[in-house]
Amino acid sequence: VSFIGVDIGGTNTRVGLLTADGALIARRSAPTRPERGNAAALETLVGLIESLISDHSGTLDAIGVAVTGPVDLQTGIVDNPYTLRGWGPTNLVAPLRERFGVTVQIENDANAAALGEWWQGAGQTSRRLAVVTIGTGIGVGLLVDGHVQRRPDGSHGEAGHHVLDPNGPQCYCGARGCWEILASGPAVARTALSARALPLLAEIPRDNHDAIADAVITAALNGEPAATQVLDRIAQWIGLGLVNLIAFFMPDTIVLGGGVGARCFNLMAPTITSTLEQHQSLVPTDTNLAVAQTGDDAGLLGAALRTRRATVTPKGHSPGSRPVITRLG
Ligand SMILES: [Zn+2]
Repeated sequence: VSFIGVDIGGTNTRVGLLTADGALIARRSAPTRPERGNAAALETLVGLIESLISDHSGTLDAIGVAVTGPVDLQTGIVDNPYTLRGWGPTNLVAPLRERFGVTVQIENDANAAALGEWWQGAGQTSRRLAVVTIGTGIGVGLLVDGHVQRRPDGSHGEAGHHVLDPNGPQCYCGARGCWEILASGPAVARTALSARALPLLAEIPRDNHDAIADAVITAALNGEPAATQVLDRIAQWIGLGLVNLIAFFMPDTIVLGGGVGARCFNLMAPTITSTLEQHQSLVPTDTNLAVAQTGDDAGLLGAALRTRRATVTPKGHSPGSRPVITRLG
């Protein structure tokens, strides 16, 4: 018996093969290239899964798919015009079930990352876990005793888009000054450009925010003062968002993951901690702050866990529930 975990992001699609007891024994990945459309992406995904299966003996029991954007757990449809441009609403469950003949479950990538960290990462002992993945965006997964918190219809929140500064920059979610627009990778680039204090950006095109953010983070990790200042500003916004998360959710543990959250954890932790201390007069201040441990595997691990649960203890949909696709904003 084995499980396949899939993590489809705007940049890469990752696939992992897990044994029945959850050991990740093999991986494959390929660029997602969302601009080429959903049919091409599905073909690539099927090819990755087939190559994993053909290289290993045993029977495939189930497939779990984590994907960026709002997902409908009951229909298996993802509709994310922001990160998966060129896809349109896409059913990821039906084609895989048809092709491989096994149970297929879908999950939002932020929730899947939280499940992955709870299962095999830094959240294993947590009963109220918040996993905040900070990279190109901010994804938040909230777990109580290892279960994703969501509405009975399956729709999930978007804590990464809660508003911190109504006069802040415009986000694609419709709000100004939400957490993601202020504290994710593009915010690192924007803050660095407005600071105009970084000669190291001279060679990089102004519209290449990924490259700018990467250069600033690398410089900050090397102790470059202007870059460190930029990351400190970002860490303040991350801390403020966590203040709100703690006030509303009361996690015992917060895990920070992603290209900004995990990579810059040690650099930003002092500022994040002092921001939390300044703002937590009414709620407990003993929340654990930890760096993610499962790295790029978090999403596919969580997707595999979700489908493993569904396979081991089958649960029907609650009567009267109807599919709802949550939308950002
Ligand atoms: Zn937003």
